[in-house]
Amino acid sequence: MTLWVRLQPDAFQGPKDVRLKPDPQAMGTQGRSGRIAGPMSLTIALSKGRILDETLPLFAAAGIVPVEDPESSRKLVLPTSSGNVSLMIVRASDVPTYVQWGAADLGVAGKDVLLEHGGLGLYQPVDLGVARCRMSVATRRGYDWTGSVQRGARIRVATKYVAIAREHFAAKGMHVDLIKLYGSMELAPLSGLADAIVDLVSTGNTLKANDLVEVETIMAITARLVVNPAALKLKRDAVKPLVDALTAAAAASRAAA
Ligand code: AMP
Repeated sequence: MTLWVRLQPDAFQGPKDVRLKPDPQAMGTQGRSGRIAGPMSLTIALSKGRILDETLPLFAAAGIVPVEDPESSRKLVLPTSSGNVSLMIVRASDVPTYVQWGAADLGVAGKDVLLEHGGLGLYQPVDLGVARCRMSVATRRGYDWTGSVQRGARIRVATKYVAIAREHFAAKGMHVDLIKLYGSMELAPLSGLADAIVDLVSTGNTLKANDLVEVETIMAITARLVVNPAALKLKRDAVKPLVDALTAAAAASRAAA
């Protein structure tokens, strides 16, 4: 059964059609994926790597521990110690899409991924404060970034984060040519493809290793918990305690840092 509802606009988005999974509690049955959904079962989408590593301690504090090691397991849906919660391992940039369409009830995604996705059809109730880094502009060492900007030179910028870069340079009144790349952005200034890149920087070691320097910081980035609005409504008794527990775990982790 598929229900189509028009959600009310919220702080993040305009009205939007969202396809709902059948409510397992009402239906007591099987979701679109074929998984047998128990009463109030919850699926959380997240990606392997830094987000998973840094989110698992917060989940553990909230009583959710995967029964297998997600880094070594080949399973893409992992049961957890909390019987009704399973983790779904997806590509980082796909997390918002799974949650938006209700294939996952919740997810964890970086602010960078959410801004590029647009945040449509998602609540973002908790800044988990993990996978902390920054979005920056970087150039080859020796490139006169300040002079080029002041002269109003036509600058070519390569990035995977086109929406964030466009917004940043438009807000500064700069006209730049954006070149979309999908990886290894550091190569763009080295090869002459672009004058600058917009990329995530954590320790700065990758830039340093490629003789690049950070010339502007665009924004701080952290991972956020995202929730499907329909899941929040229909599975509130399961979702709300989880959101509260993760809010408390994130606050405790910040206080201890
Ligand atoms: P670093 O050398 O520590 O500054 O890390 C930079 C490299 O790691 C770049 O290739 C970034 O795209 C990637 N990176 C850093 N932090 C994150 C993050 N929180 N999420 C995803 N990729 C990241």
